[in-house]
Amino acid sequence: MEFIDTHTHTYDEAFDGCEDEIIARALAAGVSVQLQADVDSRERERMFALVERHPGVLRPMLGLYPGSVDKDWRREIDALEAWRGRGIVAVGEIGLDYHYGADTKEEQKEAFRVQLELAAAWDLPVNIHLREATEDFFAILRDCRHLPLRGNLHAFSGSAETFDRLRRLGGDWYVGIGGVVTFKKASIGEDIKRIPLDRILLETDAPYLTPVPHRGERNESAYIPLIAAFVARQKGISLEEVAAATTANAKRLFSI
Ligand SMILES: [Zn+2]
Repeated sequence: MEFIDTHTHTYDEAFDGCEDEIIARALAAGVSVQLQADVDSRERERMFALVERHPGVLRPMLGLYPGSVDKDWRREIDALEAWRGRGIVAVGEIGLDYHYGADTKEEQKEAFRVQLELAAAWDLPVNIHLREATEDFFAILRDCRHLPLRGNLHAFSGSAETFDRLRRLGGDWYVGIGGVVTFKKASIGEDIKRIPLDRILLETDAPYLTPVPHRGERNESAYIPLIAAFVARQKGISLEEVAAATTANAKRLFSI
C-alpha cells in the first residue's frame, strides 16, 4: 500500500536532529511522499535544505501562512518569486485564520487573494488553511471565480455542506483529512461519510494534530495509515481502497 502525506512540516524544529529517522519511519509505513507546507521566509531556507537532502520523498510548497501575515506581507510575497522552479508542487499554506489573526484580517484577505492569483499564474494548486473565516473565504473565492483554481482545504474540519458549497463555486477541490477526524468530539468524523472518496487527501500537519491513539504526542507522517484506517472504517470500505484512492487523488492534484 502506498500513502501520501499531503501536508506536513518535517523541517519544523520539533524534529530537529531526527528528520532522517522520521522520514525513514514514514517510508517504512508506506508513506512514499511528504508534501512540505511552507510558512514564511524565516523557515523557508531550512525547509528547502531538508527537501534537497531527500529529493522525491519530500516535495515543497511555497507560500505565506496566514498566521505569519503582518504589515510586511507584501514584501514576504515578493520574496516567493526567488524560490520558483525548485520543484514546488503547490502554493501553500495560504488562507485565513481569524482565530489567531483577528487583528490582521484585512492584510490576510489581501495576501490570500494575491497568492490565489499567483497560483493561477504559476499553474499550481493551492493548499488552504482556513480557520474561523468561512464567509470571507467564500467571498474571496467568489471574486476569484475567473481564475482557474484547484487545490485543497487542509486540516478540513468543516461540514460536508461547506465542501459542497466550495465545489458549487467551480474549480477542482479536495479536502485534506488529518488526525482531527479521529477525535471523538470532531464532527468531521461523521461528515467524512458524505464526502466522496475521490475528493479526499490524507495529511498529518505534523508536528501538530496527532491522531488517536497517539493524541497529545508529537505527530509524524508515519501515522498516515491510522488516519486512513479511520476513514476506511467510517466509510465501510477497505484500507487498501482508501490508500489507492487518496494516493491517486494526491498524484493527480499535485502532479507528482
Ligand atoms: Zn500546516
